[in-house]
Amino acid sequence: MPVNIPIPTDRPVRVRIAPSPTGDPHVGTAYIGLFNRVFASKHGGAFVLRIEDTDQVRSTAASERAIFDSLRWCGVRWDEGPDVGGPYGPYRQSERSDIYREHAARLIREGEAYYCFATAEELAEMRATAREQKRQTSYDRRYRDLPADEVQRRLEAGQPHVVRLKMPIEGVTRFDDGLRGGIEIDNAQIDDQVLLKSDGMPTYHLANVVDDHLMEITHVIRAEEWISSTPKHVQLYKAFGWQPPTFIHMPLLRNPDKSKISKRKNPVSLEYYQRVGILPEALLNFLGRMVWSMPDESEKFSVGQMIEHFDWERLSLGGPIFDIAKLKWLNGLYLRELEDSELVERLRGWLLNDEYLSMLAPLLKERLETLSDFVPKTAFFFGDDRELTAEALVPKKKERKESYKVLKALTEKVEGMRSWDAESIEATLRGHVEATAGWKVRDVFMMTRLAVTGRKATPGLFETMVVLGKAVCQARLRQAMVVLK
Ligand code: GLU
Repeated sequence: MPVNIPIPTDRPVRVRIAPSPTGDPHVGTAYIGLFNRVFASKHGGAFVLRIEDTDQVRSTAASERAIFDSLRWCGVRWDEGPDVGGPYGPYRQSERSDIYREHAARLIREGEAYYCFATAEELAEMRATAREQKRQTSYDRRYRDLPADEVQRRLEAGQPHVVRLKMPIEGVTRFDDGLRGGIEIDNAQIDDQVLLKSDGMPTYHLANVVDDHLMEITHVIRAEEWISSTPKHVQLYKAFGWQPPTFIHMPLLRNPDKSKISKRKNPVSLEYYQRVGILPEALLNFLGRMVWSMPDESEKFSVGQMIEHFDWERLSLGGPIFDIAKLKWLNGLYLRELEDSELVERLRGWLLNDEYLSMLAPLLKERLETLSDFVPKTAFFFGDDRELTAEALVPKKKERKESYKVLKALTEKVEGMRSWDAESIEATLRGHVEATAGWKVRDVFMMTRLAVTGRKATPGLFETMVVLGKAVCQARLRQAMVVLK
């Protein structure tokens, strides 16, 4: 498939990533960020970081901060964003609500969108009918052609409503993907999408398209999973009378079993890789090499070299496998090249520093007879020396299968935690004891302690988990699940 990625001659290349701050910073964000950075730099363009926080319930300031920190750690630099500013701000969608409302109002005025007053019951009913008729779309467009005076009456009566786009009912929506060629989708498969929710907040589709247009984005480089949203976006550009950007959908990173990369099979948090001592330049090299190769096929290259030689033709669309053994091998190459003094610097930047020792000191003080005791007693805070066995993990008088289920449910609860402090961890663990019939505090706590530290005796469990960090605890709980499986 020939690559078709035009570079405008009358305006600068502008690209963006648009993460939603709803969880831990994801390795996929660094991957997509890298290709945006490289492409922008190759063409002397700008790379924008936009925060898509329209989901007010799930978005948190802590997650946003973690995204900034992790991307900075990786060395993926952005030119414009909420923290660095720029001429197209604000760069946080929650600060742009008026813009989206004005744009939705414009589409209504021009007959491209409409108010929909469907209640939750009506929508449930439509979904049930669609299921029966085996239709892919479910909304039956019952409010699409409501007479204007009826709409007015309902609005004045304060009836809750959303705004929907009038999708074409027949025909196909077609767009060109820069790497994949023409993609077509039957319009009959696309619902009249919601643009503004009943709380007046925009949906992802509306905010994303309006911002990409107003921020003069020329190329949307994002993961393959967004291909199914693109026809909706194309229809929105059409409704506004705007020229869409060039869409480039990057291959998804995959687990060894080829499924989409997920925390169930692979640690996906950038914080995890930082914590276990992967060097940022090795991580970027690895992420770049997964889908792209240098003209001489060398395994090891810097972002600078990638920019110098970048060419979309050298990108491979096959499902790239996120292979941690390969990442470690590459990381080893980088470590070996460091001067001794540089290695010392890196170790300091990692965990061998005052800040980390100050977190450990209060936990260990009571447990030392000599200073040298500190080393074996804290080994699991630095590296992973656990040797887990099912025998040790399963509490006395409990079954392995049941223990697996309890550990799995606990792991999921831990993963869903929004704050990471001793009180929250204690509340989660105690809550889990209460929710698990027949399990005592001792059973749940000991299994957790063993899973995250590999030991029976450690400093206080909650404090230990705080210092280990959520990303490490999560990965270790997942590894313990594999042992019990
Ligand atoms: N907010 C979307 C995300 O979380 C952005 C997708 C896109 O790049 O359009 O990844």
